[in-house]
Amino acid sequence: MDALVSLSKRRGFIFQSSEIYGGTGSCWDYGPLGVELKQNIKRIWWRDYIQRRPDMMGLDASILMHPTVWKASGHVDNFTDPMVDCLECRRRFRADKIDETPWVHYCPATKGNKFTIPAGEPCSHCGVTRTLCPECGKGELTPPRQFNLMFKTFMGPVEEDASLTYLRPETAQGIFVNFDNVLQSMRRKLPFGIGQIGKAFRNEITPGNFIFRSREFEQMEIEFFVNPLETVEGRPADEYWHERWIEDSMAWFRRYGLSEENLRLREHEADELAHYAKRTADIEYRFPIGWSELMGIANRTDFDLKQHAKFSGKTLTYFDEERKEHVVPYVIEPSAGVDRALLAFLADAYREEEVRGEKRVVLRFHPELAPLKVAVLPLLKKREDIVRTAHAIRDELSKDWTVVYDDTAAIGRLYRRQDEVGTPYCVTVDVQTVGDQAKGEVGDGKVTIRDRDSMEQIRVSLDALGSVFLELLGGAAWASVAGRFERKGDG
Ligand code: ATP
Repeated sequence: MDALVSLSKRRGFIFQSSEIYGGTGSCWDYGPLGVELKQNIKRIWWRDYIQRRPDMMGLDASILMHPTVWKASGHVDNFTDPMVDCLECRRRFRADKIDETPWVHYCPATKGNKFTIPAGEPCSHCGVTRTLCPECGKGELTPPRQFNLMFKTFMGPVEEDASLTYLRPETAQGIFVNFDNVLQSMRRKLPFGIGQIGKAFRNEITPGNFIFRSREFEQMEIEFFVNPLETVEGRPADEYWHERWIEDSMAWFRRYGLSEENLRLREHEADELAHYAKRTADIEYRFPIGWSELMGIANRTDFDLKQHAKFSGKTLTYFDEERKEHVVPYVIEPSAGVDRALLAFLADAYREEEVRGEKRVVLRFHPELAPLKVAVLPLLKKREDIVRTAHAIRDELSKDWTVVYDDTAAIGRLYRRQDEVGTPYCVTVDVQTVGDQAKGEVGDGKVTIRDRDSMEQIRVSLDALGSVFLELLGGAAWASVAGRFERKGDG
């Protein structure tokens, strides 16, 4: 995790929010490369789930909603975490997570020596388990109290209870309250889904682990409405679709680079299942902090639509033409965090390799995720014709992709810099490309393309550059493209 945090800051991916004021540990700012990576995640999600599927549509609901929404959804009463406070150092912890961090212990069996003991383990000297504050090792903890995670705010110019509302803690409710609007305006038949990407806010008691748990984050959520009276392949429609969404979501993360061995499914046990959920499965990823939730896929039954119908007084049903009756759809909710997905993609892409006796750090991003697709590098920055050609290539390619020009170091160092931020391809312009007028040599009009992962290089004519990148960045394997061109030594 330290390597990821440091690389993220050094190379412009992620900065701590308000850093010059000492920073906050609970909010993060995405720098020039981070914002590209994040946009790419959101773009492919939207493309794969909304644009390409005939049964899905998009939505962009507002963050501030009618306060009754949060009563109906259960968030006002139930969106709480149990917290305990240290009476000595005043630090606050989540009661259910307190044994997941190492704890400080002044051991009576060793004249009060201070030890830091691994999470959940007893002291190896005196055998006691943790009861005091894990941070200071001295203070008693208060009994658990419930703490609501919603950020309160006021709508309008008067700060009074009547104008109290909340920053949304999830995007999902914006979809439920628009169910009928979408159904009517788009003339839909079940099953269909509505997807949304947007900010959510939670006043987490213990934010941390970099962008894994923050107080302001983004979600990519889908509510997929199904007819509970129907069966598909011999199973109730909700159960069938729940299974489909679990498989689809797993496959999506694998497709864009998460390794099989770092992904697993975890079923919620009966005692942790939310009261409205028929079944919930989490996709867990092996983050640097250990196995943790990347996304949740819940069968929320008809709970949400029924609650909003009850609190709003509006009918939120679907007319089943075949059976001639009104039904309340069941809903399957695949809900993923953008920031957590980004952390997983970053962690999985990160490699430290040894190349010709030197360490190379490389982010092996899927090309669709890579913040920069191509870097154009002049081999000699003193040669005006080389520099001009390199700029012209950047200008041309940047009509379609994110492309940078860099001439601030020698070529070896420039390659390493691009490897470190995951740029899949570099283009170098050299004397051979433009020729040497002084010597009466004409250029061959070819440039070198270098592949990040294999470090192989090929010579490609300037005319073909656009179509070659269309293939490579469109998903073609390097080997299948490179085989058609003249090879050069590795770069
Ligand atoms: P956790 O148990 O980790 O707090 P959760 O079960 O409360 O998460 P959900 O309410 O299911 O999370 O939210 C759906 C997704 O939103 C999560 O799988 C996660 O990817 C993301 N998410 C939730 N809370 C945060 C947070 N504080 N920071 C970043 N991402 C979050």
